[in-house]
Amino acid sequence: RVNLEGSSSIVTGGASGIGEATARQLAEAGSKVVIADLNEERGSQIAKEIGGVFAKCDVTKTEDADAAVATACELGPLRVCVNSAGLGLPARTIDRNNEPMDIKGFDFVIQVNLVGTFNVLSRAAAAMAKTDVMDTDGSRGVIVNLASCAAFDGQIGQASYSASKAGVAGMTLPIARDLSAVGIRVNTVAPGLIDTPIYGEGEHAEAFKAHLGQSVLFPKRLGRGEELAFTVMECITNPYLNAEVIRMDGGIRMP
Ligand code: NAD
Repeated sequence: RVNLEGSSSIVTGGASGIGEATARQLAEAGSKVVIADLNEERGSQIAKEIGGVFAKCDVTKTEDADAAVATACELGPLRVCVNSAGLGLPARTIDRNNEPMDIKGFDFVIQVNLVGTFNVLSRAAAAMAKTDVMDTDGSRGVIVNLASCAAFDGQIGQASYSASKAGVAGMTLPIARDLSAVGIRVNTVAPGLIDTPIYGEGEHAEAFKAHLGQSVLFPKRLGRGEELAFTVMECITNPYLNAEVIRMDGGIRMP
């Protein structure tokens, strides 16, 4: 197993859900965690609880990503970057009046989920590449991105979300190839339906949860953030896990 004692980590979206659960497990494993998120109040609270640091960060901004990476490097050699910041903006391709979707909404989702992920991971990778090797095998660090099962299927109103997550899944292998020479592994976890604040309330949330009926898990239930974090931690600590996109949906196959 990769030993994280004395290392530092960045977790974008670490103020909620899967990112929060991952930040907690990283801290338990001995890493100093930078919670890089827009949500200052919640992010600072969690950082305090786990002995980490909060960095206010919009993942789409290069200067915010640079600042979060610099903060992490002050805490110890940066070994881990988890990109969990993400969101959806449900909108149909054409609306009920047959008018086209606002392209700004589509672009916003791509910017946060796909461009934002690349923005942070590329800056984290550059910092990792400048550190000494961790182990005698020459490894330096690991990146884990959060895609979604929506990368492979996708529901009504989810064109931008599915496109963004397919992008995250699709860039996993080329980035792993790019970074292999400097000893950085890259993996992606693609969750199904996980019980976090991302769905909010209302019609959209209910429509998603209705897919629970397709689960082959008994009893049927949503996944928990900490269960996703177990898989993220496996991606981080198993030195032979690389360039993989791992579906993690408890057996829900949405039509
Ligand atoms: P969440 O809503 O609980 O947490 C997302 C976090 O990202 C929030 O703290 C939010 O403040 C932060 N964030 C949003 N935009 C940001 C930005 N521009 N810069 C920095 N931080 C930003 O969501 P979650 O359920 O924990 O999801 C984590 C990741 O997993 C997301 O990428 C999401 O798309 C993906 N995912 C979640 C599910 C699910 O069922 N929960 C399913 C598939 C994929």
